[in-house]
Amino acid sequence: MREIGHFIGGNHVAGTSGRTADVFNPATGEVQAKVSLASVSELRSAVENAKAAQPQWAATNPQRRARVFFKFVELLNKHMDELAELLSREHGKTVEDSKGDIVRGLEVCEFVCGIPHLQKGEFTEGAGPAIDMYSMRQPVGVGAGITPFNFPAMIPMWMFAPAIACGNAFILKPSERDPSVPLRLAELMIEAGLPAGILNVVNGDKAAVDAILTDPDIGAVTFVGSTPIARYVYGTAAMNGKRAQCFGGAKNHMIIMPDADMDQAVNALMGAGYGSAGERCMAISVAVPVGEETANLLVEKLAPKIESLRIGPYTDDKADMGPVVTKEAHARINGLIDRGVEEGAKLVVDGRGFKLQGYEDGYFVGGTLFDHVTPEMDIYKTEIFGPVLSVVRAKNYEDALALPMKHEYGNGVAIYTRDGDAARDFASRVNIGMIGINVPIPVPLAYHSFGGWKASSFGDLNQHGTDSIKFWTKTKTITARWPSGIKDGAEFVMPTMK
Ligand code: NAD
Repeated sequence: MREIGHFIGGNHVAGTSGRTADVFNPATGEVQAKVSLASVSELRSAVENAKAAQPQWAATNPQRRARVFFKFVELLNKHMDELAELLSREHGKTVEDSKGDIVRGLEVCEFVCGIPHLQKGEFTEGAGPAIDMYSMRQPVGVGAGITPFNFPAMIPMWMFAPAIACGNAFILKPSERDPSVPLRLAELMIEAGLPAGILNVVNGDKAAVDAILTDPDIGAVTFVGSTPIARYVYGTAAMNGKRAQCFGGAKNHMIIMPDADMDQAVNALMGAGYGSAGERCMAISVAVPVGEETANLLVEKLAPKIESLRIGPYTDDKADMGPVVTKEAHARINGLIDRGVEEGAKLVVDGRGFKLQGYEDGYFVGGTLFDHVTPEMDIYKTEIFGPVLSVVRAKNYEDALALPMKHEYGNGVAIYTRDGDAARDFASRVNIGMIGINVPIPVPLAYHSFGGWKASSFGDLNQHGTDSIKFWTKTKTITARWPSGIKDGAEFVMPTMK
């Protein structure tokens, strides 16, 4: 059985802890590899490599640091097919969807090619008599990132690209469900010219995460995953004096106004609800049609499309979606569908018991649609993270707006309408981080920032965009006076610019 180790100091190293986790092929249920779960000392060895390499990397001029990313982007494009296949085999999503995962990460690498400009400081000439004031953005030192299973290429790149471009060294702790792509990315970064020790990949579980959170040499931690773990990582990192940004779960609503283009809205819901089997933090899991007529039409149009979804293994290039990631996820999602039925929601399309010929042991869940879901139900409150869409009927716009506003999560939301006033009012009032107006999955592009509100995010700076440069650098402000501006004698009063 293939054993997946770590990548430390520019080399693959085998795990020594004696602990491993199974890596499955979600389409067949077979164990295809074992991944090593790092001990505290293995994590520490990565930190020591990172710490030793970082000062020289930080002293490398920003154009040279940028050139590594120019080359890395070239290598990602060259190896796109190989990376997508590797990703799909462990995650289960379709190969085309895996390419989307890689490209959304690649775009952040393109963004950080502008690091010479992005990391520039500020300068004020003549802030006082012969006084100049300036600030610089210096790297934090050694940073760490902990990633979820659902975007094993994109999220690692969202993390390590800005961190490394700013002159930091980085320790990546990927999800133990699909660890192969992150390791391959680290190899390609070395091929692109990154010095050894600047990007290390340490596989593991809670033990590795806790070692990161308490390591005295790690200055900043970035996390993406479920809300309970995000909250834990944020609190523990902060208590240990680290800066932290932690992104959690979601329950994204899409409001469909009576004047919306219904066919566009239905197509948007199909892609956003069932693409990647609903395992996206920006998936739409709640549709909110406004008015009975809109609701009836929406459900009538959605149901046959959901019934005819093409579900298959990643090797089926015509599949709309693949299996979910693990046996546990499969059981949890089916359990939540049972729960919805018990709670009295109307099950319009039932994905339980879906079996694919030749893949009977795969973790497939069929597309599922609930109607007449209410805010008190568990299936409304819980992030299902599977191909399950709930329709919550709203009487009017105000009732529809109140739903995402009162929900615990605040990652993304969308409104489908032709009414500019309604769209503008919605964008202004809703307490959610990312808004789509006739756009179902409003994931901002690399040069804007990604982040939710409420229980979807802990910390004050978002991922990618200029926020990421702020997160990965510390500001140092210098006040300089030249001898010609110095008056004789000591001054005991607080200096002001009176
Ligand atoms: P998860 O929280 O189970 O795992 C995320 C990471 O935390 C993994 O690396 C895992 O090894 C580690 N981890 C798990 N349990 C831990 C524990 N007890 N202590 C310390 N570390 C632990 O999440 P997942 O199932 O891999 O990913 C799905 C979740 O991620 C969903 O909730 C989804 O919404 C969320 N997500 C959020 C965003 C965002 O940007 N907001 C993006 C993608 C995914």
